[in-house]
Amino acid sequence: MADIKQLADKLKELDDLLTRCMRCGMCQAQCPVFARTGRETDVTRGKLALISGLGRKMLSDPEQVKERLERCLLCGTCQVNCPSGVQVSDIFLRARAIINGYLGLSRSEKIIFRSLLTHPGLMNRLVSFGALFQGLLSKEADSTIGTSCARFNVPLSKERHFKKLAAKPLHKQVKSLDSSTGSSGLRVAFFPGCITDKIFPETGLAALKIFKHHEVGVYMPEGQACCGIPALSAGDSKAFSSLVSMNVQLFSSTQWDYLITPCATCTSTIRNLWPEFHNGDLGMVRPEKVMDATQFLMDVLGVEPADIQENQKKIAYHDPCHLRNSLKITTQPRSIISAAKGNAVVELPGGPSCCGSGGSFNIKHYELSADIGRQKARDIAASGAQVAATACPACMLQLSDMLSKENISIPVKHVLEIYAQSL
Ligand code: SF4
Ligand code: SF4
Repeated sequence: MADIKQLADKLKELDDLLTRCMRCGMCQAQCPVFARTGRETDVTRGKLALISGLGRKMLSDPEQVKERLERCLLCGTCQVNCPSGVQVSDIFLRARAIINGYLGLSRSEKIIFRSLLTHPGLMNRLVSFGALFQGLLSKEADSTIGTSCARFNVPLSKERHFKKLAAKPLHKQVKSLDSSTGSSGLRVAFFPGCITDKIFPETGLAALKIFKHHEVGVYMPEGQACCGIPALSAGDSKAFSSLVSMNVQLFSSTQWDYLITPCATCTSTIRNLWPEFHNGDLGMVRPEKVMDATQFLMDVLGVEPADIQENQKKIAYHDPCHLRNSLKITTQPRSIISAAKGNAVVELPGGPSCCGSGGSFNIKHYELSADIGRQKARDIAASGAQVAATACPACMLQLSDMLSKENISIPVKHVLEIYAQSL
């Protein structure tokens, strides 16, 4: 009975959030999924209609409700453009939690979220094991971008051009750090995030080099867990809360000024979703202290763009949705690229837009994800850039895949790498 009451309360919360939607349909023009499929059920308004009366629909066809709710990148583009201020991302995440609570998690989701993500030591060992043998299953696709593709028809990786797991992840190169405040007078807690740690350790090393250059003390504890977004997006609130608690405990054992991440997705999750979806204590990790690395460099340390030089290298900057839509951070990454002498930012002809990654969306709806990403790769090529830069490791994976498959040999770098190289 307690469960039914809980479910009723959750459905009521959803209903309250839905009342702001006027069904005006202005979200249609913004949604990258709708732009490809033209299906009303893929756009915000259609999904909100599905969610209203979720209790009844859950009983009649729960699998279909789940499938339709999952056809969303959670990019937040509809939310920032909604004239009524509908909290779309919140609604979708809550609805996914309700439907998955009702249906239960799949076996693979249970293994990934409950047994792996929540046991970072085991996860690290398994990933290291995978890194040892990945060469047997893959072959080079593009040496400039550093992508590989599968040698055999393996599920998941069959058509992808992927970045391989790092031979030495960041946590093996720098086990932990606990340096004191330098001349900057600041000390940061550093949360690299899973993709930086396991696939792009060079981004983590770039961040550490930058902190050292600006004499910022760093606290980077061992045993960091995932920020929890894969679990929350899949509707597993329990695993999400466990991950938040583990990280909060680690980062609350000492004093620091800001918690910095080089990952747009981690920053937005820790800053916005931890307080919203975790009922427990957040210790030192208060939202106002959580910052994207580029924002910290520009807004706190005061890094400024360098003077314009001749023959500057053109860098195309892709705005990650979690920075642009969730955190309204657009100028800082561009300024940090320009702060690296000899580099100039060029804008993409199509303007800012989602690259189609969307975390689990890329796994479950790869064709659709690639369809959106291909256009991004073509925009990067059309910009005339020599390098593609972004501030989210998840976007880096998608851009690498799309550029490589389109035979556009432009390397993909994190903004921090570009800045660190100039120091
Ligand atoms: S979510 Fe916003 S933009 Fe979309 S139909 Fe509702 S009110 Fe209009
Ligand atoms: S979050 Fe993005 S993909 Fe999902 S409905 Fe809104 S605009 Fe479309």
